[in-house]
Amino acid sequence: MPDRKIDGEADKLDAIVVGAGFAGLYALYKLRTKGLRAQVLEAGKDIGGTWFWNRYPGARCDVESLEYSYSFSEELQQEWNWPERFAAQADILRYINHVADRLELRPFIRTGTRVVSAAFDKATHRWTVTTANGEVFQAPFCIMATGNLSLPRVPNFPGLESFKGRWYHSGLWPEEGVDFSGRRIGVIGTGSSGIQMIPVIAEQAKRLFVFQRTANFSVPAVNRPITPEVDRSHKEKYRHWRDEAKRTPFGIAGHPPPTRSALEVAPEERERVYEQKWGTGGNISFLYAYNDLLVNKDSNETASEFVRNKIRSIVRDPKVAELLLPSDHPIGTKRLCLDDGYFETFNSANVTLVDVRSDPIVEITPSGLRTETREFGLDDIAFATGFDAMTGALLDIDMSVQGGPRLADKWAHGPRTYLGLMTAGIPNLFMITGPGSPSVKTNMVASIEQHVDWIADCLQYLRDKKIRYIEADESAENSWVAHVNDVADATLYPQANSWYVGANIPGKPRVFMPYVAGLDKYRKICDEVAANDYRGFSLKSR
Ligand code: NAP
Repeated sequence: MPDRKIDGEADKLDAIVVGAGFAGLYALYKLRTKGLRAQVLEAGKDIGGTWFWNRYPGARCDVESLEYSYSFSEELQQEWNWPERFAAQADILRYINHVADRLELRPFIRTGTRVVSAAFDKATHRWTVTTANGEVFQAPFCIMATGNLSLPRVPNFPGLESFKGRWYHSGLWPEEGVDFSGRRIGVIGTGSSGIQMIPVIAEQAKRLFVFQRTANFSVPAVNRPITPEVDRSHKEKYRHWRDEAKRTPFGIAGHPPPTRSALEVAPEERERVYEQKWGTGGNISFLYAYNDLLVNKDSNETASEFVRNKIRSIVRDPKVAELLLPSDHPIGTKRLCLDDGYFETFNSANVTLVDVRSDPIVEITPSGLRTETREFGLDDIAFATGFDAMTGALLDIDMSVQGGPRLADKWAHGPRTYLGLMTAGIPNLFMITGPGSPSVKTNMVASIEQHVDWIADCLQYLRDKKIRYIEADESAENSWVAHVNDVADATLYPQANSWYVGANIPGKPRVFMPYVAGLDKYRKICDEVAANDYRGFSLKSR
């Protein structure tokens, strides 16, 4: 039994917030401005969430910096200067630390504190949260700011423990960095993380083997410094841009909605538009070339084939190019990667692409890796093999209600939520960007702000009305889950074996998790629910 002790502040807390990334920090700030006492518990030894853990070479955001930042404070957005169009991990972490200092949040954050369980007592209406160190915190409300891509997954290859070299996961990268000079490296995985790290590692490594199971679409980032002129002109109209972002499906300004189908225009015109988007850089820009790329397979194929032709033209060896052509999913139905010289990397003499679809990895050996037909000598292995997305970090905490369900049992066949904010049967527990909300299909910071604002207003409403208990109704949840599925089924998204449906985790129920109708529409729904005395939720004062 751990040495349990009730924290001195525990009985005074209004809410416990789990996680100190973008979501947890804003939740803390917002609750405090409303006079609510909150304690943040963070597993990492410092704040930053995703941007604390994902320090792999080349890590940067695929949403533009001037958008991927907090909008709630005019001072913050005016005083911070982003050096690049797409911010590098180190700059985002620096920004997060600046925010925490500027808003004096650190005294309310306990780092190095991993939450292992949370239990709700219906008699006292309190959550008891226990940490891996054996500390116990109590509060009437619990807010999970645990992130959507925060439980890293290393495939269960036999022999990993015997490997004599060094190995890393993109989402658990050492703080001090890794020097790959003069070494033979194997990178496993070609999702966003792999596609970002491969060109950077290739520059250092003596030999780089890229183990690819599924070829992926990627478009150029066209990253560049933000000039003082761009910075100034954006900041002059920052409010305007933020307001515009709120009216978009992605929470990102500066991309006028397309009005035409890709099939409405002549092939030469289409080619010209894709070429222009390719040159401009960015994934939103590319997928927003036409209004039906994510709903019409034929339209999508025009964009998919454009990118395949780009790969054919960049990669010199036709056999390697052929292997790099994505063919198992429509473009954009998995996260469209952004890269800086990814396909070009395969023209380097020290880089070898290994197709582990036709020749799967069988085991890790003491000196490297073995596929069904070949053996590779490696000094280091970098796993860019992804995360147990959207539900992983939530289910990693043993959440239960006394005399009621355990979250893990309730979600055994996939997550069920009302609005992605709460789940029926588990009262007073809010999720920030939970499954069933737009979350990963948007600018995460915009979605986080929308959720935190909604939750903070809700807590204030409950306090004003002396209500101690809020729970999602089962019927509202059922309708919402059906709606989330209907919306997804009208798109091409379910056609991909993506982490959006849990396909990357063996045995995970196949459920489409994000809400893809758009953050603008979703915001209206949430606002209407609140305006109608939290329709679909049961509120009780005792
Ligand atoms: P991911 O997209 O899930 O990609 C994982 C890769 O590992 C895939 O290529 C997968 O192949 C491969 N893999 C997994 N298990 C394997 C196995 N047993 N054998 C061989 N290959 C295996 O993970 P991620 O790249 O970390 O990206 C996750 C998400 O994080 C992204 O979609 C994005 O939303 C976010 N992210 C964003 C950025 C950015 O902002 N620029 C950067 C990094 C990550 P299969 O496809 O065959 O499963």
